[in-house]
Amino acid sequence: MPDVHRPHVVVIGAGFGGTRVVRALRDADVRITLVDRHNFHTFQPLLYQVATAGLDVGDVTFPVRTLLRRHRSASFVMGTVTAVDLAAQTVTVDHGLTLAYDFLVVAAGSVSHSFGVPGVDEHALALKDVDDAVLLRNRLIGDLERASRGVLRGEPRPELGIVVVGGGPTGVETAGGMRELLDKVLAKDYPELALEHLPITVVEAGSRLLAAFDTRSSHSAAEALRGRGIDVRLDAGVDHVEEHSVHLRDGSKLDAGLVVWAAGVAASPLAAAVGTELQRGRLRVEANLSLPGHPNVFAVGDIAAVPGADGAPLPQVAQPAIQAGRHVAGEIVAAIAGRPGTPFRYHDKGSMATIGRNQAVVEFPNGMRFHGWIGWVLWLGLHILYLMGFRNRASTLVNWSWNYLTYDRGARVLARTIADRPD
Ligand SMILES: Cc1cc2nc3c(=O)[nH]c(=O)nc-3n(C[C@H](O)[C@H](O)[C@H](O)COP(=O)(O)OP(=O)(O)OC[C@H]3O[C@@H](n4cnc5c(N)ncnc54)[C@H](O)[C@@H]3O)c2cc1C
Repeated sequence: MPDVHRPHVVVIGAGFGGTRVVRALRDADVRITLVDRHNFHTFQPLLYQVATAGLDVGDVTFPVRTLLRRHRSASFVMGTVTAVDLAAQTVTVDHGLTLAYDFLVVAAGSVSHSFGVPGVDEHALALKDVDDAVLLRNRLIGDLERASRGVLRGEPRPELGIVVVGGGPTGVETAGGMRELLDKVLAKDYPELALEHLPITVVEAGSRLLAAFDTRSSHSAAEALRGRGIDVRLDAGVDHVEEHSVHLRDGSKLDAGLVVWAAGVAASPLAAAVGTELQRGRLRVEANLSLPGHPNVFAVGDIAAVPGADGAPLPQVAQPAIQAGRHVAGEIVAAIAGRPGTPFRYHDKGSMATIGRNQAVVEFPNGMRFHGWIGWVLWLGLHILYLMGFRNRASTLVNWSWNYLTYDRGARVLARTIADRPD
């Protein structure tokens, strides 16, 4: 039975931020309830590998209940939080459950953002969670099966090219992964479709790819993609998306079988439901990451606007969430002991993105930069290190070694017959 006399900490979200809070509170004298709409944690940086058949869903996810096994007093609720009542100190979960808290941590992350571009929600596929990644993979392979049947019926091959909108790490990695999947694997699976030179285009509204990186890394990434036959369009804003085409603001049109929307994210809608001040849609926080006027409520990760050294909100990437989660756990322990809060300080650990086999860009805050093969090996090692759970690390290592040595991708079965695009 849980000890009801101990302070109750409710954590919304089992992502990078929320799981870090829970782990850091393992030995604290508190009860914890972790709430997530999924019963697993997702390692989002490798979702594009699921979408491009390099890894299985199980490699990039980790069951929340396994994570909580080592905790004396943590429990899990699977459900979507629909409301937070700061005055009553309660959280409402979608199936009618209300949880009272002494401390609350809002770590609900972000959602894919269309920026109001017409047609995105209807005709483009996002890459934000496991369902998106599986849908993308199924859509690609399902379309090829459909095209193959059409060729047997004597019909011309339909447009199968891929347009990836967004030149950040997700867009770059997805385009590189798709090129490898098509050229090295699917071209052999579907010889009747001649997939080797299928056009893949990356569309970026800004003047360079990987805008958060040094310009040399941006150029290196663009060169590497172009070297693999990927068309990189810079300064190319998307006007609207239709079924099978992307229309740019300059009036040009890109035909596509598949449109991937990797142009950005916005804070989870839960931010607005909390009811405190927002900054660019994210929860504004005090220096110690508590919400203004609510010292027992904290926000971490993509949903929070945590100011960096220059005052601008930190980027919506994993390290700010992880470090903020650890800090908030310390704040809760300090508050229970009657100690004052301390300001959060972010330590930049660098950035990285891979373009595909033997190619990545890695930047460290001390100015060290690695491109090409060395960058790729660093990228592989650091991703293995940060994956949750030994099984996931081992399985990912085995899958990657197999893919590298054999040029094969095992995770390309259509486990469910897709009904999302009928003939
Ligand atoms: C495709 C992709 C690639 C990325 N690549 C990188 C990368 O290479 N490097 C990097 O540093 N960052 C990367 N990121 C960003 C990084 O994954 C996020 O910044 C990080 O996950 C944020 O952590 P978080 O804890 O705030 O949210 P998340 O990790 O997104 O976790 C939020 C959790 O909250 C749950 N949730 C949401 N709403 C509710 C609700 N109402 N009720 C209950 N549960 C809810 C979700 O199910 C989820 O489990 C990538 C993101 C994506 C989508």
